[in-house]
Amino acid sequence: MEYDVIIIGAGPAGLFCSSNIKNKKVLILEKNEKPGKKILVAGGGKCNFTNNDSINELYLHYGDKKNFVKKALYKYSNKDLLNEVGFEYIITDEGKVFPKNMNSKTVLNWLLEINNKNNVEIKYNIKIQNIEKKDKFIINTNKGEYISKFLIIATGGKSYPMLGSTGDGYNIAKKFGHNIIKPKPALTPVIIKDYPFVDLSGNSMNVLIRKNKQIFKGNMLFTHKGFSGPVILNSSRYFNYGDLIKISFVNFDNEENFRNDFFELINNNKNSLLNEVLKKYNITKRFIAIMFKRLNLNNTIKCNNISKNERNKIINYLYNQEFIIEKVGDFNVSMVTSGGVDTKEIDSKTMESKLIENLYFIGEVLDVDGETGGYNIQWAFSSAKVASDSINSK
Ligand SMILES: Cc1cc2nc3c(=O)[nH]c(=O)nc-3n(C[C@H](O)[C@H](O)[C@H](O)COP(=O)(O)OP(=O)(O)OC[C@H]3O[C@@H](n4cnc5c(N)ncnc54)[C@H](O)[C@@H]3O)c2cc1C
Repeated sequence: MEYDVIIIGAGPAGLFCSSNIKNKKVLILEKNEKPGKKILVAGGGKCNFTNNDSINELYLHYGDKKNFVKKALYKYSNKDLLNEVGFEYIITDEGKVFPKNMNSKTVLNWLLEINNKNNVEIKYNIKIQNIEKKDKFIINTNKGEYISKFLIIATGGKSYPMLGSTGDGYNIAKKFGHNIIKPKPALTPVIIKDYPFVDLSGNSMNVLIRKNKQIFKGNMLFTHKGFSGPVILNSSRYFNYGDLIKISFVNFDNEENFRNDFFELINNNKNSLLNEVLKKYNITKRFIAIMFKRLNLNNTIKCNNISKNERNKIINYLYNQEFIIEKVGDFNVSMVTSGGVDTKEIDSKTMESKLIENLYFIGEVLDVDGETGGYNIQWAFSSAKVASDSINSK
């Protein structure tokens, strides 16, 4: 069974790559019984498939991989994708892009449709047993032997293994001599030791988080056991078990400014209830109630009755509250994997291996992970497109 191109993995990277290969016989081998399981769960079932950033900002959302991803993102940007998607979409205030009907199936169906038009064959329930390269790639599976000139690995990372991505691509890469940067869960929530905010679960707040000299700012979600939301997901790659983090729940760049503002607030509202005036800082009634309980403050306390000690405690609670990370979410809950196939050994213009001719790695199997907001699926598309362009040009 001979093909021009074989792609392993029918996620967004594999499916987009195959649909763009011209005048060649293309086969996708997929281990699951159906394609794109991760697309269906992406964005809570709505699939935030890209971001509306300007092209000049897009690549800045990939941490220290920004220089590697830049060429592919410029060659096939979010704007190129939006010009081409065969469905209506909406852009949120934060720039996230979803299908207009807020249903991930729309994205998957579009990918399947363009594959269908391109006569791509997909085989499901495939177990890869061995891959080697002689003149061509020879792939042994539970359903027979397949041969191809080009081989594209689009097997994803290690996150959400129940959806198919179990890190198989790393073993294939190793077999061909590639280095693997240790995979680590990324875009993942954290569990907090002695977590005090169970009653706030489901609420979110804009916060500033400090870990030593690192500062992270953004929206944080309270969960049953800890924190999640964009600011936590995006910074989770920097967190480890036992880390101390300090959170500011009020929007001030430094403690002194907050202290001065708080003093002015209580001086100007001497006869008002403290729990009423604190609302100025955009903190909810429930948050204030939890704080009062923790600091042993009476609900009827007025601003002019607060002792110096109580003032300091309030400032500390709102600006410098300390938390210990008990657990950083593992691969079962992390949305993406950081680490993977070492990008030093990959041509950033084409995604072709620098070690083995006609071998390509695309999508999350590479050591590339973007922030939350549509950047990971955009990476799957952009890396897939440059690989297909390269194959088309050969
Ligand atoms: C819950 C969740 C929500 C997310 N939400 C978003 C979002 O809204 N926006 C966003 O940009 N990103 C989101 N992501 C991340 C995004 O889904 C991934 O980065 C993206 O799917 C990676 O695409 P991929 O094609 O590289 O890999 P995958 O989507 O993981 O696809 C890999 C495919 O390869 C197959 N495969 C693996 N091993 C083998 C093998 N040995 N043989 C054959 N087939 C194999 C797998 O079964 C799978 O079908 C989310 C992820 C999760 C888990």
